Amino acid sequence: MTRTWTQQAIACIERDYQRTSDTHLFPLELPGCKGIDMYIKDESSHPTGSLKHRLARSLFLYGLCNGWIREGTTVVEASSGSTAVSEAYFARMLGLPFIAVMPRSTSPAKIAQIEFYGGQCSFVDDPAQVYAEAERIARERKGHNMDQFTYAERATDWRGNNNIAESIFNQMKSEPHPLPSWIVVGAGTGGTSATIGRFIRYQEFDSKLCVVDPPNSVFHRYYESGDASVTLDAGSDVEGIGRPRVEASFIPGVIDRMMVVPNEGSYAAMRYLHKMVGRRYGASTGTDFYGALRLACEMKEKGQQGSIVAMACDPGERYLDTYYNDAWLEKSGYDIRPYEAQIHQAVQTGRWTEIGA
Ligand SMILES: *Cc1c(COP(=O)(O)O)cnc(C)c1O
Repeated sequence: MTRTWTQQAIACIERDYQRTSDTHLFPLELPGCKGIDMYIKDESSHPTGSLKHRLARSLFLYGLCNGWIREGTTVVEASSGSTAVSEAYFARMLGLPFIAVMPRSTSPAKIAQIEFYGGQCSFVDDPAQVYAEAERIARERKGHNMDQFTYAERATDWRGNNNIAESIFNQMKSEPHPLPSWIVVGAGTGGTSATIGRFIRYQEFDSKLCVVDPPNSVFHRYYESGDASVTLDAGSDVEGIGRPRVEASFIPGVIDRMMVVPNEGSYAAMRYLHKMVGRRYGASTGTDFYGALRLACEMKEKGQQGSIVAMACDPGERYLDTYYNDAWLEKSGYDIRPYEAQIHQAVQTGRWTEIGA
C-alpha cells in the first residue's frame, strides 16, 4: 500500500510539472556593450515565485524515491525564506503536514506566505538553533528533515531532466552567441551553482561559471582558502544568498570565478534593473546583474564578443519595505548613489570604474 501511495505522489508531482511552463529567458539592452549580449533567466515566474520551486520539487522527489517521505510523513525544514514557501506548496499537494522552523524575528509577510500554502511555522529565539530544532522536531514526529543545505546539490538531476542549466542552454540555442561566455549566479544552498557548473562540464561546454557573493558570506573565503571551518556571526543582508557557515551543498570545484559584490551594488543594480525592464526582482538578482555587468565591461575592454546569462531569483514585491525602501537603506547605513552612477556608466558606455578608485 505504501508503495502505491509513493507512486501516486510521484505521479502527482509529475503532473504538476507537466502543467507548468518553463521560466523566461529575456535579453537586456546594454547600449555600451555592442556585441556582448546579456540575458536574464527569470526564475521568479515559477508558481511559488522563486528558483526554490525547482529545489523543492527535487527535494520531494529525492525524499520519495529514497523512501524517506511516505504517506503521512511530517516534512520539516529549517528555512525562513523561499524554500519553505515552495516546500509548503508541494507538501499541501501531497497532503503531507509541513513545518518550517524559523527565527522568531522572521517577518509576518513570510510567515503568512508559508501559512497560505498550509504550512506550519515553529519559532526559535536564537537563529543558529534552527538546524538542531528542525532535526529535533523531525525525530519527535518521526518525520523527515529536508535539510536543503545538505541535499540541494545531490537532489537535483544535474545531467539533464530540464534542470535550470539544460533549460538555459536550450533557450539560448538560436541566439547570436548561443554558448554563454559566463553564467552568473549567487549561492545560498549552492545547489543552483552546482547544477550549472556540473552541466557545463558534463556537456564539455566552454562556458564559465561566476558565483557572486555578498561580503558577509563565508563562501568566497572558503573558495580562496579551502578552509571549510570558517564561520561568521551575522547575516549577509542579501536575502537568499551568502551564508555564515560553509554548507555541504556548496561545491567550489565547479566554479570558475567568485566575485564579491558590495551590498550597495546589489541594491543599486536591483533598482536599476527595475527601471530597465519594468519588473521588480529581489536583491540577489541585483547581485547577479551587478556581477554580469562587470564581466561585460571586462569583455569589452579585452575586445571580446559573446553572451552572459544572469539569474533572476525571486520577485521584488517581497522587499518593498527593505531593499526598495529609501528609509530602510538609510537606517541600515547604505548609500547606494555611487553604485547607481557606476552601473549607469557601465550600461551606457561599457566602462567599469571601481568605487573609490
Ligand atoms: C536560494 C536563493 C538563491 C540561491 O540559490 P541556491 O541554489 O540555494 O544557491 C538566490 N536567491 C534567492 C532569492 C534564493 O532564495
